Amino acid sequence: MKKLLDLQNLDLQIEKFRARETEIPKQKSKFDIHKKRLGDELKESEAKFKGLMVEQRKCETDISASQEEILKKEGQLIAVKKNEEYQALLHEMESIKKKISQKEDRILVIMEQMDDAETRFNEDKQRIAGEEAEITSECSKIDKELAVAVSEREALEAQRKPLLDDIDPAHMRKYDRIRRAKKTGAALVPLQGESCSGCFMGITAQNVNEILGGKFIPCSHCGRLVYFPTKVAEEALEVTEGGQ
Ligand SMILES: [Zn+2]
Repeated sequence: MKKLLDLQNLDLQIEKFRARETEIPKQKSKFDIHKKRLGDELKESEAKFKGLMVEQRKCETDISASQEEILKKEGQLIAVKKNEEYQALLHEMESIKKKISQKEDRILVIMEQMDDAETRFNEDKQRIAGEEAEITSECSKIDKELAVAVSEREALEAQRKPLLDDIDPAHMRKYDRIRRAKKTGAALVPLQGESCSGCFMGITAQNVNEILGGKFIPCSHCGRLVYFPTKVAEEALEVTEGGQ
């Protein structure tokens, strides 16, 4: 029975590594989502800055086009004979000049905003690069952890086979059945007072006696095999001494 407990010990460790192996890819996909969000954030910050730059250039082009228009109209002014036409041209030139001055005002506002946007963009770039580097190092850390978990689990699995040879097939079948039913955790649990330490329910006096005598008795509530640790340790000692 001691061997069966050794096997369970091994299986519980294997189970722990397996849980880690399923957990790690989930963690990594969370990191991937975070990385994508950082990338989007940076793109947005850059787009804002570049958008202002484009608008500024557009204003400048508009201004020089308007200035050319004014020069053209000044030329026309000399050729005009009628007073109304002269006045009309002057009026048009005025409204073009007004448009120019509006664009110039807009450029001032844009330049101010551009300063802010550029500062923010550079700050974002630095912060996001830092966060991404952190994520990358976390990812490589958990990649290594995964590799370790896999190799340790495989090493533990390799230890299973020699143990199986020493275990009574009938006990093995019971053990497997309980493990399958419980999915996780122990199939063999120590007696605790007069209760099962798997489900904490009481055990009948007769079963307690048998357990104290060294038997593995199924708990009538949860089905786990209940044993008496002291007895198992004594038997293990007897086996070792007998073997010498
Ligand atoms: Zn129980």
